[in-house]
Amino acid sequence: MPHETVIECPFCKRNVVKTLKFESFLQAERTHISAGTKYVYHRTSEKYEVLDKCPNCGKTKEEIQKALDTGITKELSHEGRLKRLKESGLPTKIVSKREMKKRP
Ligand SMILES: [Zn+2]
Repeated sequence: MPHETVIECPFCKRNVVKTLKFESFLQAERTHISAGTKYVYHRTSEKYEVLDKCPNCGKTKEEIQKALDTGITKELSHEGRLKRLKESGLPTKIVSKREMKKRP
């Protein structure tokens, strides 16, 4: 069941964003093979629905949701991020977390 949880804001990296978390779960899928029916399990990915704007940097929930949907979160693999960025037509250069934290 989905439950409320606080996650890291993809913009300011503070754990202050209220979201509704949908846990990943195993889903059974029936496939028909010559010998009969076989169940194949695959794991759905967990999802977050942003409930409120970021109280720290003021990004709206729409902006945070978009950032989560386009994969600017630590949960996603590097490859997953590249794929999603390509699909959404954004530049494919990924700025690493370390680089983003660098301050003059
Ligand atoms: Zn923020």
